[in-house]
Amino acid sequence: MKNIVIFGAPGSGKGTQSAKLIDEYGLYHISTGELLREHIRRGTEIGLTANEFISRGQLIPDELMIRILDEVLDAEASGKKGVVFDGFPRTVAQADALKSLLRKRGTDLHAVIGLEVPEDELVERMINRGRETGRADDTPETIKNRLQVYHQQTLPLKEYYQAEGSYIPVNGSGVVDEIFNDIAAGLAEKAGLERRRKL
Ligand code: ADP
Repeated sequence: MKNIVIFGAPGSGKGTQSAKLIDEYGLYHISTGELLREHIRRGTEIGLTANEFISRGQLIPDELMIRILDEVLDAEASGKKGVVFDGFPRTVAQADALKSLLRKRGTDLHAVIGLEVPEDELVERMINRGRETGRADDTPETIKNRLQVYHQQTLPLKEYYQAEGSYIPVNGSGVVDEIFNDIAAGLAEKAGLERRRKL
């Protein structure tokens, strides 16, 4: 298996680039944000809890998030070529958990793509997305909280993965396909992942 984390601030384009990654490399996409929003739509117990945190721009507690991921890996990801983790990990505890969840399944994490986008651009993108899609947490107040949470709890993971040598920085501003080309080049160089179709 080839397992990749796509890492970046809210609004950095993780979802957009994940879609291209699964298409290009035949990997399985796990977006924890999407999983939680699906629970909210279905009105499950997890959804009710998740909504309390998401609507305030806070993270879902680690223990719950890790348990959900463990279950999804069993239910959906076994037998796949690999997984793109989008929106997970978001804390050091989650990064440690991801390691043991993968190890338990006899596999490993092969690369962490860090989408780097200036903060004013992030805010603009999320405001636009909120207008276009009505996503409930893309409102000015919640965006502010999410960025604060990102800086406090998630950004330390950049150093965590840099120290392990798995962090691949990618400039996340600009044209979607050009950003993807940079991602693909980084994955080829650092993780030995070849594109299905050559350019
Ligand atoms: P974005 O990266 O734009 O914030 P996501 O869809 O990845 O969008 O996440 C939306 C929200 O879902 C987060 O603000 C958080 O409340 C919750 N969430 C998603 N992934 C996690 C996670 N790994 N740990 C805790 N909370 C999470």
